[in-house]
Formats: sequence, C-alpha cells, structure tokens
Amino acid sequence: AKALGRCNYQYYSPEMNARTLDRLTLENGLRHAIERHELVVLYQPQYSLATGAMTGVEALLRWLPPGRDVITPDVFIPIAEDSGLIVPIGEWVLRTACAQQVAWKQAGLGSLRIAVNLSARQFRQAGMEVMVAQALEDSGCDAGCLELEITESVLMDRPDSAAETLQRLSRMGVRLAIDDFGTGYSSLAYLKRFPIDVLKIDRSFVRDIPGDSDDAAIATAVTALAHSMHMSVVAEGVETEAQRDFLRSLQCDYVQGYLYSKPIAADAVATLLKLAL
Ligand code: C2E
Ligand code: CA
Ligand code: CA
Ligand code: CA
Repeated sequence: AKALGRCNYQYYSPEMNARTLDRLTLENGLRHAIERHELVVLYQPQYSLATGAMTGVEALLRWLPPGRDVITPDVFIPIAEDSGLIVPIGEWVLRTACAQQVAWKQAGLGSLRIAVNLSARQFRQAGMEVMVAQALEDSGCDAGCLELEITESVLMDRPDSAAETLQRLSRMGVRLAIDDFGTGYSSLAYLKRFPIDVLKIDRSFVRDIPGDSDDAAIATAVTALAHSMHMSVVAEGVETEAQRDFLRSLQCDYVQGYLYSKPIAADAVATLLKLAL
C-alpha cells in the first residue's frame, strides 16, 4: 500500500496492475500508431438548420490496432495527452483533415468547413500557431475553412496566455470554437475578450430537450448569448426530430448528431455530398 496522506491508503490490487499494464501497452502501441497507419480520421457531418445543407464536418480520431477492436478516443486521447504523444498525433489529424478538405473541394463537392479538436497540451505548445499555418499552407486549405475546437477548461486555466494564442490564430483567419460549452467554468468576462466564432452546446444539454425545462432554458440562454456576441451556435448530439425542432425554434445555426449521421469515413462523406448535388 502506498500512503497518499495521513489517512488515505491506495491499494494496488491485481486488477489495478492489469490496468497499469494495459495502459503501458496502449502507450507503446500508440507510439507507433501513426507510422503503422493505424490511425483513421472519421468525419461527422454538420448541417445548417436554416438551409438543411451539409456545411461542415468534425474530424474525430479512431485507432485501429491490428487484431484488436477499434479503440475510441475516450480511451486513448488521455494517454496520448499524458505521454505527450498528442502533439504529433494532433498534428497528423490536422494535416489529414486539411488535405481531405482540399480533396473534397477538388472533387467538385464544395468547400466544407472542417472542425478539428485541439487538446490542452497541443494548444499550449509553444509556436502551435506556426504548426497550424504550415499545415494550411502545405495542404492548400483556406484558413477560413478550418475551425479549431478548444474546451472551456483549457481556455480558463491560463486565460491571458490563451487569449494571446487565440488572437494569433484568429488573425490567421482560422475560426475558433469553444467545445462542450457549459460543462466547464467559463467566465463571461473572458468570453468577451476571446476572439471566439462558435459555441458548441454540449450533448449533455441537448439530450433531454425539449422535455427538461432546465436544459431547455440552458440551450435557449447559450444560443441567445452566442448570437448577442456575434457567434454562431452548433448543437452536438442531436438524435431526435423533437430536439432538432426545438433547436430550430431557438434559431440555433448548426446541428450535428446521430439523427443526421454518425462519424463516417471520408468517402462516405463524399457519397452524401454527391447525393445532395
Ligand atoms: P467531442 O469533441 O465532444 O466529440 C463529440 C463526440 O460525440 C464524438 O465521440 C461523437 O462521435 C459523439 N457523438 C456525435 N453525435 C452523437 C450523438 O448524436 N449521440 C451520441 N451519443 N454521441 C454522439 P468520439 O468520436 O468518441 O470522440 C470522443 C471525444 O474524443 C471527443 O469529444 C473529443 O473530445 C475527443 N477527440 C476525438 N478526436 C480527437 C482528436 O483528433 N484530437 C483530440 N484532441 N481529441 C479528440
Ligand atoms: Ca469536439
Ligand atoms: Ca463536444
Ligand atoms: Ca464532449
């Protein structure tokens, strides 16, 4: 037993050893995942509620180690984050997504906006905006077609340096979104100072609308707040027509969720776009 404090003992059970081992195995596997082509970016379509058109996609990472089931990001992103592997992996996701945006455009399928998730470690990496600029330049993707999603907790942890990084990205023409809005603690005073373009209403607030009056009030307030500050609103986790209709009544701008599509491969996105031409 390891002492954690005067009265707190943490016991290492066989089960925990197995978990630690599993974690090390995952971390070692992840170390080679890029070069072994085991990482795949899926894309979840986002739709305009006003026009019904697909206007963008969110890039969502999957890991397919040989001989194992697909590993979801909830499992491996924290490991990648702790080990620092998120930095090269995140750059790879960004470059892959930018290249895909250009490929869809060159195939005559229009200029979709691509949203890419940035982890805390990536966002705080010195010179990260140089990496973003390089990825845009190398792919030929327009900065205005790239949206970077950052969570509130990452921004609020060190708000002054976050504001500077956001300003540099914003000046490049990249769009900035706050992910999972409402789940962390956001100071509205800082929100005003950050050059944010988009608020994403977290799935936990979408799940029980319109029935749950608290969640309905939150969705209403977030949408009104965003619009009054000239930001657009994306609702995530939209699974039912009732949720969609309520969000439309709020004049929420964009929706994303299983009602429309799960995250899908790039060629499946192309098929959807061709059907809509
Ligand atoms: P997130 O950014 O909040 O992404 C939305 C998650 O909700 C995705 O899970 C998506 O598949 C899921 N989702 C979308 N619509 C629905 C719906 O209608 N119902 C339900 N139940 N779920 C829905 P996913 O793909 O497993 O990703 C989980 C999280 O992992 C993401 O949450 C994000 O925080 C992180 N992540 C994924 N890809 C990346 C990446 O490339 N970089 C970083 N740093 N994080 C990533
Ligand atoms: Ca996201
Ligand atoms: Ca989210
Ligand atoms: Ca989330």
